[in-house]
Amino acid sequence: MGKPKVASDWLAGCSGCHMSLLDIDERIVDLVKLVDLRATPITDLKHPDESGVDVGILEGGINNSTNEAVAKMMRKRCKILVSLGDCAVFGGVPAMRNFFTLEESLRRAYVETESTDSEGKIPSDPELCKPQRVQAVHEVVPVDIFVPGCPPDADIIYYVLSELAQGRIPDMTKKNLMWN
Ligand code: SF4
Repeated sequence: MGKPKVASDWLAGCSGCHMSLLDIDERIVDLVKLVDLRATPITDLKHPDESGVDVGILEGGINNSTNEAVAKMMRKRCKILVSLGDCAVFGGVPAMRNFFTLEESLRRAYVETESTDSEGKIPSDPELCKPQRVQAVHEVVPVDIFVPGCPPDADIIYYVLSELAQGRIPDMTKKNLMWN
C-alpha cells in the first residue's frame, strides 16, 4: 500500500493555521516520509487530485462562494476531512461579521476605515453579496475531525497528522487538546 495522500487548502482565515503546521519544524521531515503531500497552499499543486486523496485539511471559514466551492471540492475528493483551527471549526474571527448586516460590514471595510480616503466605495462584485453570514466548514460539508485553536498548537497538529498518516483516527478528547 502506498503512502496516504494528504491535501490542504485555506478559506477565510489568516493562514496562521498553516503557519502553525510549519511550526512542527524538523518533524515535517518525519511526516513527509509517512505521507504523500499533494495540493496545499505551500506547494505548487493547488487542487486535490481528481482521483481523490486520503486526508483533506481545511483552514478558515466559509465567507464567499469561492470558499464554498473549495470546501465542496475538497469534501468530494477526500476520504477524511479535517477542520483545522477555530475559523474552520466555528467561524472564528471572520464570523465576527455575523453580528452586523452585510451592508454594515462592507461599509466598514471599504468606506469607513480610518485609512480610506473620500473616494472609498463598496466594489461592485457579486462575490461580495454572498453568503450573508460566515459559516463553519461543517455547516456546508460534513467534517470528520475537528482541531480547534487559534491557531492549533503545532504539537497537536503533528499528533493529528502523524496518527492519520499511520491509518489511525486521532483521539480528540480533552487530554489531547490540553497540550503543554
Ligand atoms: Fe488564523 Fe486563528 Fe483563523 Fe487559524 S484559527 S486561520 S490562526 S484566525
